[in-house]
Formats: sequence, C-alpha cells, structure tokens
Amino acid sequence: MDQNNVVGIQIKDILKSTRLGLFPLPTDVSIEECWTCFCCTKKLEVFAVLIGVKVHSQIRVGVCGYCGYMGYIDRPAKAWLTSFYSIDWDKEFMRSATQMKSDVVLQKGGVKGSRQRAFELHRQVPVDKKKPYFEIGSGYGQVMKNFEIAGFEKLYGIENSKHRTELVKKVFGFEIHHGDFGSREVTEKINKNAPYGLIFSHHVLEHVYDPNEVVRAMAGMQDEGDYAIFAVPNVAGEHMNYVTLYWPHLHGFTKESLEILFNRHGYEVVVDGSPDILNIIFVLKKTKNPKAIFKKRDDYVAEAKKRIRVAMSAGVLSKGLSELLWDQKITERDNSSVQKISGGFFGGIIIWHAKQIISWIKSRIFKRLSVQYSLLVSPVFEKISKYDAFEIQFKKNITFLIK
Ligand SMILES: [Zn+2]
Repeated sequence: MDQNNVVGIQIKDILKSTRLGLFPLPTDVSIEECWTCFCCTKKLEVFAVLIGVKVHSQIRVGVCGYCGYMGYIDRPAKAWLTSFYSIDWDKEFMRSATQMKSDVVLQKGGVKGSRQRAFELHRQVPVDKKKPYFEIGSGYGQVMKNFEIAGFEKLYGIENSKHRTELVKKVFGFEIHHGDFGSREVTEKINKNAPYGLIFSHHVLEHVYDPNEVVRAMAGMQDEGDYAIFAVPNVAGEHMNYVTLYWPHLHGFTKESLEILFNRHGYEVVVDGSPDILNIIFVLKKTKNPKAIFKKRDDYVAEAKKRIRVAMSAGVLSKGLSELLWDQKITERDNSSVQKISGGFFGGIIIWHAKQIISWIKSRIFKRLSVQYSLLVSPVFEKISKYDAFEIQFKKNITFLIK
C-alpha cells in the first residue's frame, strides 16, 4: 500500500460540534517570522507546515532541537495580538459581577483544577505575605481573591482583556493594570510597588508575544529569595494536533525549555508541582546561581516529526476520504484514529454533510459537550512546501481551532 508515502493530509472540513470554534486565518493580520527559540535562543526547525491551498497562505511550526520548545515560526504581529486579547478573546465566555462574587472557591480536579493546584503550591515555600503579590494575567480575579483570603496583604495584577480588568477593579477592588506585561507603558506603573514577594501566572505565557521579555521584566521586579509560580501546558504531553492547529498557543514549553528560560533570568525551579503529562506547574525562586534539574534530550526534532504523523494517523490513512478522530487524553499522547468514508467521493461528501447536520443538532442540545474532534481528510502524497516536514493542507484557507 501507499501509506508510507503519505507526506501530509488535506483537511476538507471540520465537524462543527467540537468544543472549539473555527478561526480561518484572517486576511488583515500581518505575519512575522520568528526562527529563534524563546527559551534557549537556538534556531528552530520546521516540523509541520500549514498551507491554505487556494489563498496561498503558509504557517510553519517549529521545534527547538536543543530544548524541545515548539512554536509558530509564522505568527501574528504584536499589534494584532494585543487587540485580539484586549477585545475579542473571551467574548463568548464573559462572566458577570454576580458570577465573580459567588464563584470564589477554586475548583478541585479536572482541567480547571490546575488553578487550584498552582495556588496551593505557595504553601510549600516560605513566601513573605507582607510583600506585595503580583499576578500576570489576573483574569476575573478569582486566584487573586484566594491569595487575599490566604493572608496576602497587597495584591496587584495586569490583564490584557479590558472588560476583565474593569470588572476585577469594580467587584474586588484590586489594582489591576490593563495592558501588556513587559511593555514600557505599564512597566513603570508596576515597578512602583516592586519588589514583589510572589509573582503568579496561570496559562498566560503560552499566549504572549515574547515569553523571554516577560521573564526578563519580572526578574527586574523581584529580589533574590522572592518566588514565582508559573503554570503552562506541557507540549511534551499535549496533543500534536492541538499544538499545530491552535494558534492562540504561540508557544509550547517542555519542562526543560521552561527551566532554561527561567534559569537565564536568575530563577531556579524549587518545586515541580506538575500533576500530569499535560501540565507544567513550577514554583521558582530568584537566586544568584540558578541550577538546572531537568535533563535535556537529543531527539526533539525527530520526535516532533514522528509525533505529528501519529497524531494525524498518517500511517493508516489510505486514498480517498476519511474521518480523522482525535481528542486530548491524559493517558495517551497524540491519540487518533481514522474511519474510511465509503461511497466514493461524492457519496462520501453526502455522508459527511449528513453527519455535519446531526452533529450541529447535537451541539445545540448538549452545548459544547463533545470533546472529540473530527476532521474530514484525505492523504497528501506530494508536498507543496519545500520543508522536510509534515504538511497540513486546507483546500481554501488555513483554519485554526479556537476557544
Ligand atoms: Zn530551545
């Protein structure tokens, strides 16, 4: 058979019932190229290329051979990104003041339990609660409120979303800055209350324009002996389809890469509170001679190329239309399966559209309950790009998954 010659897939359609929405690459976004690993500064290697066949768009995804960091080489310019997070980002999930007041207790377990776990870690280190606390990406203020209840006396934060900033000020009375952490406009204001005894950040660093700038800026706001708690998804366990198709996550960190980034700015990992293969939660301490504890590997590039093939079921894909099913599991990295769609090309399309309708009706009834992703795909035997990388083609335009 011809499976071994599969060099990519073409995504014909994405089933609309999935938990995430669809986000076609906007025509108005200016794209920048970035070949440098944000963690160790070495050059990235391309392991996947997304291609919009009809509109001739191309987004390359890279991996760092030295530390395992993964990220988009072609990424939105800063101005676009800032405005996206300021206004568009959580349009669909806005919370009200009433919800914020009644929902202070951090949820235990499950996906959302990661906030609670990260919060609890502060008890494992001798943080000085009299020193100010600062949160990067303070969201709806839920974690900050918990730190206040835990006895922290002065609490500050920065948040990119405008309406979240306003709500937290109004509902909890915290001093929150609206803007981009690390940018000159806000740094001066934030520096006024430095040094901070504890800096907290939950699932923010993977979204920011420049993680290196963020860590550099925070290092300037802390003394030796101060602490930081950072939580991010772990790219070593995250589904590769998510890594390649979810644009808001500009960065994918391994434990090794995140440690290198913090080591470079004078932090060392003192507690690894990561609960599973999907999440990294570190407690870091600012110190004079930071040491590394995680061992780097030498097969990050080969592994990324292998993983994307597994995630896309490239080895079992045969000619014609198939349905590619996948979901994020804690127990099984990059799980995926294919179901051949019979009935020839046109019959297949009809079956797919019937599925699409059923799935749409289900999604109306069960809201966003379905977590299995379903793509209509066919194998690609000839690449358009020149890279030794897996090619993910879209008939018209590149379409990302989005919250
Ligand atoms: Zn690197």
